[in-house]
Amino acid sequence: MKRIFINGKIRAIDAENRLYQAMGCEDGKIAALGTKDEVIKAMGDCEIVDLAGRDVLPGFIDAHIHLLDHAIFEKKTALLSGVKSVEELVQTMKAYIADENIPEGQWVTGFGWDQEAFPDGQFPTCEQLDQITDKHPLMLNRRCGTICAANSMAMRIAGVDRNTKDPQGGELVRFADGSPTGVMLESAMSLIGDCVPKIGDKLELKELLAFSFDEMVKNGVTVCHTEDFYSVSDKRALWEAYLELFAEGRMPIDLVLQLRIHRPDQLQEFFDFGFHSWQRFGNVKIGPIKFLGDGSLGAWSAGLNEPYSDKPDTCGCLYWNKEELARIAKEIVDHDFDLTIHAIGDAAVENFLDGCISVKEEIKAKGLRPSIIHSQIMNERIFEKYKVVDAIGLVQPMYIHSDWSIADDRVGERMKTSYCFNSMLKQGIRLAAGSDLPIESVNPLEGIQVNVTRKDLTGQPEGGWYPEERLSRLEAVKMHTIYGAYVSKDEDRLGSLEVGKQANFVILSGDVFTVPENEIKEIKVLETYIDGDCKYKA
Ligand SMILES: [Zn+2]
Repeated sequence: MKRIFINGKIRAIDAENRLYQAMGCEDGKIAALGTKDEVIKAMGDCEIVDLAGRDVLPGFIDAHIHLLDHAIFEKKTALLSGVKSVEELVQTMKAYIADENIPEGQWVTGFGWDQEAFPDGQFPTCEQLDQITDKHPLMLNRRCGTICAANSMAMRIAGVDRNTKDPQGGELVRFADGSPTGVMLESAMSLIGDCVPKIGDKLELKELLAFSFDEMVKNGVTVCHTEDFYSVSDKRALWEAYLELFAEGRMPIDLVLQLRIHRPDQLQEFFDFGFHSWQRFGNVKIGPIKFLGDGSLGAWSAGLNEPYSDKPDTCGCLYWNKEELARIAKEIVDHDFDLTIHAIGDAAVENFLDGCISVKEEIKAKGLRPSIIHSQIMNERIFEKYKVVDAIGLVQPMYIHSDWSIADDRVGERMKTSYCFNSMLKQGIRLAAGSDLPIESVNPLEGIQVNVTRKDLTGQPEGGWYPEERLSRLEAVKMHTIYGAYVSKDEDRLGSLEVGKQANFVILSGDVFTVPENEIKEIKVLETYIDGDCKYKA
């Protein structure tokens, strides 16, 4: 199959930042780039598509996303983002249970509340959630995904009461008398979460994934580094679901699987699959083992070296100490897997890097590319450790949008070396952008705008948040394209428009490089091409 695209503004996002008029595609790959005449001459007789002056970029790559959770939240969860008070939360949940006609006794889940949006800034309590229902167990996750609120029935089923001790790396928020309020932080969440039935039915998993794939191509996202295994009751069923979707031609995008564990004894399950990191099965590539290093900044649970500036009695949560991390890093690389971690605070990031450094010879010999998801609170010492193992930060531009109003309070002076993507890139540290959907919006154009402006999408704060960390438009686009390709060792196959690479590209309604910077987010994806075929047309 041959096709030529002419009269475009085709931005290659290659090393020379070339701009072409025309591109020829053959058998899913880019076969020619140049002027219209050059490309027609090189390609010979074939179908010609007139781009009519429109802008073309490489297909976007999302370096950290939860495709399955996104579908579960959209289709099987009450959405609580935007809820402005506990009363509104109660009413929203009541209406949801009634509308969905959920049978008594069945678990009900919700997602997206944020106490920062409530007038008193307080977490909800089980007494308040009991007003929603005393006939359904409830688990309502905060927008960070690392805190939940439960009603009394849920706690009863989970066996959580005043005698329940805080687990390592977690905390139960308690009333003055010591009984739990229903709010569980970090690892304590699993006390409730483990009781909520997960999906294990392969057909249902396939439908949910297919729903999310649709959403991706609409947003021009052609590769997703997705973390789904922790959301299912049957990992084999999920693995088969991926392979079957690919075999049936229902997987338009490329996937890189981030394999999440919570405890070291869960590693064996992945080892038993018989695959290892960076092996490819059709559109599915095996990514790194992923584990959790700490919590979130919003909930004071990101693991810091020094106490929080606005909560001096805590340094947050750390899931692993240095010795444990060194041990698990060795076990993972010994089994030919790469490694990544959720780490937001400086202590969590540094512990992980120390673990990687302890096996740095093996990392180098095996060509591994360890990465850190989030990597927000940083310092100069961490920058140096990043370089020792050439680690990659899988960062979220949209966290600038969501966090600028709280992060200074949380960490004070440490902000000078935090969310500092420009400084990190200048230091030679590799970064790639991930949306963390469903935590943030998946739209890469919003992420690009936020990185370029250092303002949220409403234009706040005036002048930008630490404006010295603004990225050039080219760097901001690279974070969503070629830098993402590097993470999965696909820099020779994906991420830029060059002869021999996969013909993955988007046709846009405007030029990311010339529109006013606060209008980048208005640019629409008009068409998404993957392997030279149109997978989405607005
Ligand atoms: Zn995530």
